[in-house]
Amino acid sequence: VTTKKQQKNAVYFLDQISHRFPDAKIELKYDEKDPWQLLVAVVLSAQSTDVGVNKVTPRLFARFKNVQAFAKAESGQVEPFIQSLGFFRNKAKSLVAAARKVVADFQGAVPGDREKLEQIPGVGPKSAAVIMANAFGEPAIAVDTHVGRIARRLGLTKQKDPSKVEIELEKLLPKARWIEAHHAFIWHGRRICVARKPCCTQCPVTERCPRVGVTVFA
Ligand code: SF4
Repeated sequence: VTTKKQQKNAVYFLDQISHRFPDAKIELKYDEKDPWQLLVAVVLSAQSTDVGVNKVTPRLFARFKNVQAFAKAESGQVEPFIQSLGFFRNKAKSLVAAARKVVADFQGAVPGDREKLEQIPGVGPKSAAVIMANAFGEPAIAVDTHVGRIARRLGLTKQKDPSKVEIELEKLLPKARWIEAHHAFIWHGRRICVARKPCCTQCPVTERCPRVGVTVFA
């Protein structure tokens, strides 16, 4: 059972972190009018940094201009554009398969529906949540490694499974702030509460963080 006190505590953390990072937003670069480009960037970002993805996508999108172009390609034609990323062969396969699915089953338009998104090759629950939030403004707290770590360190959850963390965070925070929470926690996790050595002395929530000063590794 989620109590009002727990909700107030979670909102306090979000307020402070958002105040520190008022410009927190997605760091993948894509054409904001084109959900397909976002989907490609999100698929490529698995096990890779956003910086690494942003380096390869301009040339990739110049060569394959839309979902139809990806659908017509063979994965071997996509590979050279993304080979600086981990798992590039699998990612190239996923992108071509995803494009074919979008063209064949969704009339060439990335669906704004989480269940349908999860049917697309390479798109898991977290990716679907990221796409829903950023392309369609649909409230969701996509739980990646940073969001999960921050939520656990702040004592907002004990869960490890990202889907369970997501459910718990969504009970704690108002729906109107879910997208904000996703971005704010990621920025906090990348810039201050980093995995190996969190910079607790620069942190906006040191006063109430249960893990302050503890050298934490997960
Ligand atoms: S006080 Fe330290 S462990 Fe707690 S959220 Fe801030 S940086 Fe992370």
